[in-house]
Formats: sequence, structure tokens, C-alpha cells
Amino acid sequence: MATLEVKDLHVEIKEEKEQTREILKGVNLTMNTGEIHAIMGPNGTGKSTLSQTIMGNSAYHVTQGDILLNGESILDMPVDERARKGLFLAMQYPAEIQGVTNAEFLRAAINARRPEDDQISVMDFLKELDKNLALLDMSEEMTERYLNEGFSGGEKKRNEILQLLMIKPSFALLDEIDSGLDIDALQVVSKGVNSMRGDNFGSLIITHYQRLLNYIVPDVVHVMMDGRIVKSGDADLAKKLENEGYAGLRDELGLDV
Ligand code: ADP
Ligand code: MG
Ligand code: MG
Repeated sequence: MATLEVKDLHVEIKEEKEQTREILKGVNLTMNTGEIHAIMGPNGTGKSTLSQTIMGNSAYHVTQGDILLNGESILDMPVDERARKGLFLAMQYPAEIQGVTNAEFLRAAINARRPEDDQISVMDFLKELDKNLALLDMSEEMTERYLNEGFSGGEKKRNEILQLLMIKPSFALLDEIDSGLDIDALQVVSKGVNSMRGDNFGSLIITHYQRLLNYIVPDVVHVMMDGRIVKSGDADLAKKLENEGYAGLRDELGLDV
């Protein structure tokens, strides 16, 4: 079992004129492999900031607290090292990379997590790739295209899940993988994530809407508001939020945000 712990995490960003602003104001979260956690919350509340900070984006400055993977602080590790340790981030806005095909990227990413004397063979890679393309209802042609270049919004999201299935991280941070997806694509993406469920996989699913959580049923739901997790519960909490809205929860908790 692997564990990801976020402890009293405070994060600042630099705005114009070197002004700093605190975005995360003491986030606590512990998750183990075998579990799926969801983070819900209004826009601008710090959900993407949390996922970017866990992954190691240097635009986000940790001023207090820690992030531990299996008890070891990862704060000083660059992004690629965090990835090698088993973290994966599917971004809200995936980047395009020119000159690298999707397949090349995937193979390099898989091999980066394996020792030098145990790189994946071309045969095994293609077998795994075919299996996952079929699961996600994606055409082989997608893998020969440059990474995310000219991909539609839905194709990008599917491709993020293809990466997830191929790289097999211990923990996947999925930031609004549901945004802009029609119901068919949503089902496919959910099928991909659900196929990863098991003792060696944990996921933190960030979403603005409850809809996704009908397909990927979380073990724990956290609500983030104004840079803090203000409430945690089971899957029913997401349904309650859908009915009562964030305003209802604000009132209930007596929050002034
Ligand atoms: P959410 O994902 O919950 O919608 P974000 O984490 O994206 O929220 O944003 C939280 C706040 O931090 C917002 O006010 C946003 O404008 C600001 N912010 C996030 N990332 C950056 C950045 N790289 N540069 C400047 N401001 C940022
Ligand atoms: Mg947002
Ligand atoms: Mg966001």
C-alpha cells in the first residue's frame, strides 16, 4: 500500500509586481492506494493549485506544511522525479508537444519508471497500447500524432486517460477530466479510470460537478472552499452538494467566503 499525505499545506503564487497571494491556507488530506477521493468546490477555490503543487509545478510556492509520499517529503523533488515515484497528473488544460508522437511519449514515460536493464519491449508496449486503445474506443492513428497537437478537447481528455492506463501510476490526480465531455466520452473516460481501480492505485478526482461521480463512485468526498477543505464525507456528500449547492454548505458551516 502506498500513502499520499498533504499536511497543513500553505501555497502562495506570485502575481503582478511581485505581489504574492496565499491560495492554499492549510490543506490536510491523506489517501491510500485502493481509495478514490474526490475534491469538489467552487471555481477559483484552489483545486487546481493543490494538484499542481502535489505534482511539483514551480509556479506554486509552498510556504508551510508538507507533502509526503510513503512518509517521505517530496517537496524538494522536481516533477519528473515525482512522476518516477508514482505520481501522475491529468491536467485541466493538457499541453501540446510538437515533434513527439503520442506513442513515443508514452513509451518514454513508461521506461522512465523502469530500471535501465528492464525497459519495456516494443512488442509488449504495442500489445498494451492496443488493449488500452480498445478500452477507450480510440483509434490507433491518435498515437501517431504529435502529443495533443490539434486534438479536440474530448480527444485530449481521452488521451490523458490513455496515459494513465499505460503509465500505471500509484496515484493519479485527475483535474476536471469531465469538463467539456459529452456523455459518451464521459462514460469512456470513467470506464478507463474504473479499470485502474485496485489495491495498487489511488486517485484524487477534482471536479466541479457531481455528474462524474455517478460514474466513478468515490470512497471519500472533500469539499474545498477558499483554500481549505471544509468538509469531508462519503459519496452522498456529493449528491447533497448537487441538491443544496455550495451556498447551502457555506450557510451550514457558517463560512464567510
Ligand atoms: P480552481 O481549480 O479551484 O478553480 P485554481 O487553483 O485554479 O482554482 O485557482 C485558485 C486561485 O489562484 C484563482 O484566483 C486563480 O486565479 C489563482 N491562480 C491559480 N494559478 C495561478 C497562476 N499560475 N498564476 C496566477 N494566479 C493563479
Ligand atoms: Mg477552475
Ligand atoms: Mg481548476
